[in-house]
Amino acid sequence: RIGNPDRIVIIGGGISGLSSAFYLQREAERQGKDIEITIIDGSPVFGGKINTLQRGGFVIEKGPDSFLARKLAIIDLAKELGIEEELTTTNPGAKKTYILHDRKLFPMPPGLVLGIPTEIGPFAMTGLLSWGGKLRALLDLVLPVRKEQGDESLGGFLERRVGTQVMRRIAEPLLAGIYAGDLKKLSLQATFPQFAAAERKHGSLIRGMQHNRKASAAAAALPAIAKGGTFLTFKGGLSTLVNALEEALSGAQKRLGVKVTEIRKADAGDGAASGVSKGLADSRYEVVLDSGERLQADRIVMTAPAYDAADLLGPLTDCRELRAINYVSVANVVMAFDKATFGLDFDGSGFVVPRSEGLHITACTWTSNKWLHTSPDDKVLLRCYVGRSGDEESVKLSDEELLKAVRSDIKKTMGITSEPLFTEITRLPRSMPQYPVGHVDNMKRLRSRLEQDLPGIWVTGAAFDGVGLPDCIRQGKEAAQAILAAE
Ligand code: FAD
Repeated sequence: RIGNPDRIVIIGGGISGLSSAFYLQREAERQGKDIEITIIDGSPVFGGKINTLQRGGFVIEKGPDSFLARKLAIIDLAKELGIEEELTTTNPGAKKTYILHDRKLFPMPPGLVLGIPTEIGPFAMTGLLSWGGKLRALLDLVLPVRKEQGDESLGGFLERRVGTQVMRRIAEPLLAGIYAGDLKKLSLQATFPQFAAAERKHGSLIRGMQHNRKASAAAAALPAIAKGGTFLTFKGGLSTLVNALEEALSGAQKRLGVKVTEIRKADAGDGAASGVSKGLADSRYEVVLDSGERLQADRIVMTAPAYDAADLLGPLTDCRELRAINYVSVANVVMAFDKATFGLDFDGSGFVVPRSEGLHITACTWTSNKWLHTSPDDKVLLRCYVGRSGDEESVKLSDEELLKAVRSDIKKTMGITSEPLFTEITRLPRSMPQYPVGHVDNMKRLRSRLEQDLPGIWVTGAAFDGVGLPDCIRQGKEAAQAILAAE
C-alpha cells in the first residue's frame, strides 16, 4: 500500500488501548511514518476499568483507585501528557494497613514486603500468627532451594517457603487486592517472578526480599513524586489520565458504543472468497462492528479481555491460551458518612480480610483518610470490596442484599452503625484475570502462533504481562514500538 497510511485499528479503549494509541501516534510522528489510528470501544466512554465519579465534593473510584509509584511507566506518561502536577500521594498519616484475624484488626508488622517478612523483630511480635506459624516462616532461612525449573503456583511456592499461615493469613489477603485470586491457582512466574529469583539467588525468600528492599531503598533514580509514598493517584481521580489521553489523541478516529463482532482475514487478495468486502481486499483484515460498519485494517491491536479476544480471534487461529485465563468477578461498595456522627477515627489506610474470617468483604479502604483529596473535610468515605476467586456469590446479590451484607461486616469489624449519606455500588463481572501456572510460556506460544497465522495482529493488555495500570501502559508502549518496527 505504497503511499497510503498504515491503518491501525485498536480494539478496546481502556488504559491499554489508549496507551498503545498514544505511543503509536507519538512514535509515528517521531519516525515520520504515516499511520491512521482508529480506537473502538463497546462502552459509551473511554477508560475501560478506570471509572471516576465526582459526587457532592467526593472523588469516587469505581474501578482502580491508584497505582504503584515505583513502576514508572505511568509517571512518564503523565509527564508526556503534561498532567504530572495532578499526581498526588497517600496521606502520610495513613501509612498503617491492618489485617483482620479472629475478627480483630492487627497492624501489618513493619518490614512486610508483599506479605514477606524482612524485619524479624516486628514479625516475631505480631499477633497475626501463632508461634508455630512464625517459626515455620523462619524455616525459609534454612530450607533447600527448589531444584526443578519451570513455573509453580504462587500459593504452592509461599507454602513451601514460609508456610501455610503466612500464605493464608497475610500474603493472600494482601495480594487479593491485585488479583482477587486463589494463590494456589496463580502462576508464580507471571505474578511475582522476584520471589522465585530471591529463592534462587539468596537460597531463601526472606533473605532475598531483605536484599531487594535494601537495593530499592538505595536506588536514588526514582523521581521525587514516586518517593513520596508507595501509591499515587491523580487529584481529580484516575479519569484525569483517561481524559488527557483522549485529548492528546486528537489525530485518532474514536468509535465509542460500538462493539467489534468479527475480524476477517483477507486471503491472497481474493476478498470475495474470504468474505472481505469487495474493494477492501487491499487491507490485511476487515473489522466488523455491531453497527454493521466494516473497517479496513493493516494492523490490529487487541486489548480486549482474554475471553473477548478469544471470541474474536478464535475463528482465525487456536486461542486455547487465551481461554485458559479465568476471570474473577468483583464488586465494591462505596459509602459516604457525616464525620460528626460517624464515631470513629482512622489511623491508617484500611484493612484486608483473609478468607478464613468468613465475611463478605475482602478488604475495606478508609478512603477519606488514605487519600485526603477524595472527601470534604467534614465527611468520611469508605470503600468495601467483595468477591474473590472461589467466592464470587456475594457479587450476585441484589443491591439491597449486598449493602446489608457489607454493612453487617463493617459493624462486626469496626462497630460502624451510622447511616450512610449515600452509597455507590459497582459490579465488575469477569474483571480480574487469573494468570494460570505456565502463563508466561503460554503467552510466548500464543504470540508466536499469532505471528505465523495472523501477521499484523498484536495482543496486549491486562491479560498478558501484568494487571496493574503501569504494566498496562508499559505493554501498550511496547506494542506500539513493535508495530512500528515491523514491516
Ligand atoms: P480494560 O480496562 O478491561 O479495557 C478493555 C476494553 O475493551 C473495555 O473498555 C471493553 O469495553 C473493550 N472491549 C472488549 N471487547 C470489545 C469488543 N468486542 N469491541 C469493542 N470493545 C471491546 N490496577 C492498578 O494499577 N491499581 C488499582 O488500584 C487497581 N484496582 C483495580 C480494581 C478493580 C475493581 C479492577 C477490576 C482492576 C483494578 N486494577 C488496578 C487493574 C487495572 O484496573 C486493569 O488491569 C486495567 O485497567 C485494565 O486495562 P485494559 O485496558 O487492559 O483493559
